[in-house]
This record gives sequence, structure tokens and C-alpha cells, in this order.
Amino acid sequence: MHICDILKQNDPSFSFEFFPPKTEAAAEELFATIARLQELEPAFVSVTYGAGGSTRERTHDLIVRIQKETRLTAVSHLTSVCHTLAELEAIVDRYMASGIENILALRGDPPRNVANYDRADDAFQYAEQLVAFLKDRSTRNGGRGFGIGVAGFPEGHPDTPNRLKEMDFLKRKVDAGADYICTQLFFDNRDFYDFRERCELAGIHVPIIAGIMPVSTKSGLVRMADLSLGSRFPAKLLRAVGRAEDDAATTRVGIHWATEQCRDLLDNQVRGIHFYTLNKSDATRQVFENLGVSSSRALQGDSSRS
Ligand SMILES: Cc1cc2nc3c(=O)[nH]c(=O)nc-3n(C[C@H](O)[C@H](O)[C@H](O)COP(=O)(O)OP(=O)(O)OC[C@H]3O[C@@H](n4cnc5c(N)ncnc54)[C@H](O)[C@@H]3O)c2cc1C
Repeated sequence: MHICDILKQNDPSFSFEFFPPKTEAAAEELFATIARLQELEPAFVSVTYGAGGSTRERTHDLIVRIQKETRLTAVSHLTSVCHTLAELEAIVDRYMASGIENILALRGDPPRNVANYDRADDAFQYAEQLVAFLKDRSTRNGGRGFGIGVAGFPEGHPDTPNRLKEMDFLKRKVDAGADYICTQLFFDNRDFYDFRERCELAGIHVPIIAGIMPVSTKSGLVRMADLSLGSRFPAKLLRAVGRAEDDAATTRVGIHWATEQCRDLLDNQVRGIHFYTLNKSDATRQVFENLGVSSSRALQGDSSRS
């Protein structure tokens, strides 16, 4: 089923993101995590795509395993960076043969370990072109083809300082065939609400899913800032994290902050919340517990949202 159809049936939706494990042991551990999170009845789960090498193969393997061994709908992230057209064709054909129906189409960033990476060698320069390619290749034999999601950046993407142009580029990406937008993580919901309104003004009417990542440790927060370039860390959050006495206390602060974000998003008609789980189940489960529910289903049909 396409994510856009799942979103219609799950309003609001909850979904979880994982990254491909590096070892066999980590893969088994991740599968145990996924089994625990399955109890929360996510609308779908997604798996990220690395900058190159063997990790890319692991994304494919994990996606196919989730699809085969669980009841979950799996969305594969796919980036166009460091890929030729022939490689992308092979990947897409393999996913279609495995019955994978949904892709999050991304440009990706050049690998950090390659100095002066020349993007001119990539088949596509922007995600918009990958979206058009996915649509075309997956529908050429008839049928609906892939359900396609794209990334959105409530606080702006660092490559485009012109925030008006940025919305034009986002609209082009959606017009090329994307069914929904999943956002970069953010810590201040006002940024998300403003982004949602700006999308509306730009004529972008697909569902927008909010990306939420509970802060876990102080070192994790520093890594997070590096991976989510452009994301703002509000002073209130930094003060709360600064007061925390150890990692366990920081985790509690992060879960509390994420719970408050989710509560407020639910009160403000968010279409979906996507948790960046970091392959762990505890923080996400705790947020659900704090919201007073045992699964995503309990939050659907909430009369206070109408
Ligand atoms: C939800 C989510 C999931 C992610 N998952 C992954 C993942 O699995 N693996 C990974 O490597 N990275 C991932 N990323 C990070 C992402 O790949 C990077 O942020 C990347 O720099 C931008 O990707 P994009 O798909 O938004 O690119 P694009 O939409 O191509 O945009 C990239 C930049 O180019 C600008 N732009 C777009 N079109 C044009 C144009 N026609 N002319 C000029 N400028 C243009 C945009 O405004 C933006 O600044 C994810 C990000 C998000 C928010």
C-alpha cells in the first residue's frame, strides 16, 4: 500500500526510522527492537540509506527482511548521490521485484571521507530528478508504481539560503510526483507550523509528517547537530540538558521535551509524527506512555482533533 493511502487511514500516523546495522549481531538486536516497536502499531517504518559501499546493500536487505518477516510496511530511503543511472535502475528494479512499494527519494550528501567529491558524476543533481525517475521507471509497465516521499526542512536547508527559492524547489519536487513530505528533526514546533503554512502558500498540498528525535545524551546532541545541519537547538532545551546530571537524566529531559512536542503537534492537527529512533525502542515507547496510550491506534479518531 502507498504511504499516502496509509496516511488517509491513519490520522495522525506514527512511524519509526532505523538505520542499517553494521554487523550480524547488531542486525539481530535491531530486529528485536523492531519487534518491540511493532506493538505500538506504527503506520510504517523506514530505513536510511548510507553514503556508499556495503551499508547501501544492508538497507536493501533490512527493508526486504522487514517486509517479509513482520506485519510492517517498510519504506526504503534512496539517495542519488554517488550513483550512476545504471546503478539506480538496478536498485529500483530489484525493489520492484521484491514487492517494495514505497521509497523516500533524497539527493543525499557526498561521503564525508571523500575530499572534493564531484557531483557532476552523479546521475542526478537534485532529489526532484530522482522522484521523476522513480515515477517513470516504476509505472512504465502500467500500474501505480512507487509511493514516493521527499524531505522537507522546516528551518531551511543549508544549501539554499534563499528561503523563497527553497520553497519553489520543494514544490518542484512534489510536482515531480511526491505524495508526502517528511521533515528534518526540529525542536521548536513553531518552526514546523510556519513551514506547514508556507507550504500551503506555495501550493504544496501533500501531507507533511513531522520528524521528532528525542535527545538521548549530551554527546548524542552534538552528533545530532552535525547530522541535521540547520536545525536550531532552543536555549530552553540547552538549559534543560545542561542541568541534567548524567546520561540517564539527559535521556529523561529528551523524552519529556519530545513528549511535549508530540502533545502539541497532536493538538495542532499534525498528519503524522516520524520518530528518529536511533535503532532503540525505549525513548519512543516512553513518549507513547507519557501520551497515555499503548499504541498509535489509540490516538486515531481523537475527537479533540476535529
Ligand atoms: C526525512 C529525512 C530523511 C533523510 N534520510 C537520509 C538518508 O537515508 N540518507 C542520507 O544520506 N541522507 C538523508 N537525509 C539527508 C538529505 O539527504 C540531505 O539533507 C541532503 O543534503 C538534501 O537532500 P534532499 O533530498 O532534500 O535534496 P534536494 O531536494 O535535492 O535539495 C538539496 C538542496 O538543493 C536545493 N535544490 C533543490 N532543487 C534545486 C534546483 N533545481 N536548483 C538549485 N537548487 C536546488 C534545495 O533547496 C536544497 O538546498 C534525510 C533528510 C531528511 C529530512
